[in-house]
Amino acid sequence: IIEFKGVDLSFGDTHVLDHIDLEIDAGKFYTLLGPSGSGKSTILKLISGQLTADSGDILFEGQRINNMPAEKRRVNTVFQNYALFPNMNVFDNVAFGPKLKGWPKAKIKAQVEHMLDLVKLGAYANREISELSGGQQQRVAIARALANDPEVLLLDEPLSALDYKLRKAMQHELRQIQKELGITFIFITHDQEEALAMSDWIFVMNDGVIQQNGTPEDIYDEPINHFVADFIGESN
Ligand code: ATP
Ligand code: MG
Repeated sequence: IIEFKGVDLSFGDTHVLDHIDLEIDAGKFYTLLGPSGSGKSTILKLISGQLTADSGDILFEGQRINNMPAEKRRVNTVFQNYALFPNMNVFDNVAFGPKLKGWPKAKIKAQVEHMLDLVKLGAYANREISELSGGQQQRVAIARALANDPEVLLLDEPLSALDYKLRKAMQHELRQIQKELGITFIFITHDQEEALAMSDWIFVMNDGVIQQNGTPEDIYDEPINHFVADFIGESN
């Protein structure tokens, strides 16, 4: 569904992505794993349209989208810091995307209820954002990002702000949601255990380069170089 061919990006004289090739198939759970500054968020921003590549091609369903405006892409992002609308209640936050698309009222209501059920907040539609815990706010952010039926959901360290137990629970739930909807998730983490537990396929990044990509088993059993072996072997 997404392909990068020789994608380069620099900020000033910092070469942030170095000739990235990658392929993302529809309906799977992908993870970008790597240390801080390795270029993970930059890849998501190229997919969402927040950044434009210096060179190379980015394809979506075979079509070159390098210069397609962000709002035309069927891709949404969930961020670490939720980024909800604080002055709207839960329902209106989740209804935001469908309303922009001009869906009929009844369809919006049904969709919001479905999405809130998916994230286990069915009883919270009328709550204010300020009344919710951090974990609940992140659930609303996930429901909101899914509500206008994206084909790809980008998740930039969505679990990093949560405590250990909640994080474990949410790992499992995110995976369930991805399977239930059957859409593509591209998830970022710097936690190798989280990547190994959740993913169909992992891209291990360092210094703007994909060091290795494969199934969790491939990467765990046969790290291709010292960097991957050390990174996967680290304990938290
Ligand atoms: P983290 O785990 O800390 O979020 P990351 O892997 O997501 O890291 P990126 O945000 O993709 O890393 O950044 C990659 C590199 O690009 C870093 O060295 C960063 O400082 C640099 N960078 C990112 N955005 C900009 C920008 N707008 N201007 C200049 N440099 C930037
Ligand atoms: Mg990042």
